[in-house]
Amino acid sequence: MTVDEIWAPLRVELDRWHDAGRIARLWLRDDDAAEPTPALGRLLELTRTARVPLTLAAIPATSGEPLANRLRVEAHVLVALHGWAHTNHAGTDEKKQELGAHRPMDTVLGELRDGLAILLRLFPQQLVPMLVPPWNRISKVLIPELSGLGLEALSTYGRAQAGGPIPLLNTHVDIMNWHGVRGGRPHAELIAELVGELRARFHDDAEPIGILTHHLVHDATAWDFLARLFAHTTDHPAVAWKSARVLLS
Ligand SMILES: [Zn+2]
Repeated sequence: MTVDEIWAPLRVELDRWHDAGRIARLWLRDDDAAEPTPALGRLLELTRTARVPLTLAAIPATSGEPLANRLRVEAHVLVALHGWAHTNHAGTDEKKQELGAHRPMDTVLGELRDGLAILLRLFPQQLVPMLVPPWNRISKVLIPELSGLGLEALSTYGRAQAGGPIPLLNTHVDIMNWHGVRGGRPHAELIAELVGELRARFHDDAEPIGILTHHLVHDATAWDFLARLFAHTTDHPAVAWKSARVLLS
């Protein structure tokens, strides 16, 4: 298959949206920022050039002035709270979790409170008060407590359930393969997933589609997917890339 053939299903679906006078809302979340790196620089340049708003989930325990200084000049970037230290507290037979039920609730909430204070100080203009739990997992008992900390939204992975105690702004298409050989997933597979998310929203677009990336572990396949995704969507009249702030307002 040629590159054009691989991307054709997305063009067809977006053209269908355009013919119906509909506009699909997309947003981009990238996780695990803590310091400026060449990979972060590449992501910032790619999104800036494509004019795609970016929400970086930053790890407060390890973020500092270098990251703040680097991001301050990037008007298209917002920062969200990525747990506390991205430390796994789950047992070896469980999926990884920092915000699970393994420790007293006050301990976990105290870390989130401290983390939010750090990010507010580092990113006073760019912080969006949204929690991105490490590994996209959080104990259900913590969720009703988040607004008391000053958090206004939660972002995990998968279709959001409406009616919870805090607004959800989720991601739905994860470009990385976390099993087996780590790297970007095949483009055709990602396009099929994105088209599936679009089809599910054709009649009821209640939830924007979140694309999830992890700049520190991108290989050539992952970087290439992002570049091509932007090329195919940013100039399409049926697509609007939105910032988390706009989507939550
Ligand atoms: Zn993470």
